[in-house]
Amino acid sequence: MDCFDLINAGLKFHESFRYSEAMPYFQDALKSHPNCPCAIYNVANTWHNMGENKKSKSLLHKFLATKDQILKEGCPESHEPVESFKLVAYFLLFHVTLAITKSFEQAEPYAIEHLNKRRRGLLSVWSKREVLKQIKQAQKEFGTSPE
Ligand SMILES: [Zn+2]
Repeated sequence: MDCFDLINAGLKFHESFRYSEAMPYFQDALKSHPNCPCAIYNVANTWHNMGENKKSKSLLHKFLATKDQILKEGCPESHEPVESFKLVAYFLLFHVTLAITKSFEQAEPYAIEHLNKRRRGLLSVWSKREVLKQIKQAQKEFGTSPE
């Protein structure tokens, strides 16, 4: 199977929340294309869904630090643009950081980065309205109250 087929096979399990069954497909995609932004994002997202937030965090930091050009050349298959995966990676990192630190203040910069990078033409899994709602909820749950 090529990268595109592996990702799609993984997403079928992902859609029914069967994360541990989805993971081998995403990891095979990543093994064959270590710089494929789609494979990296899906492995990181699945680590998060499986509660392995530290693994997710280190993969996301490495991904965000990798130059777009390297990621563009990282996979011959057609996926969404690199910029779209980086956009969603920032918001995923917001949730991952919340899960690890339980601190809204530490996670917030990633949500802000996500909001700053949003623009027409880039795919985002979440609407802006949904993003703002999730930020507000997180602030309520994990923020320090001003006093
Ligand atoms: Zn790929």
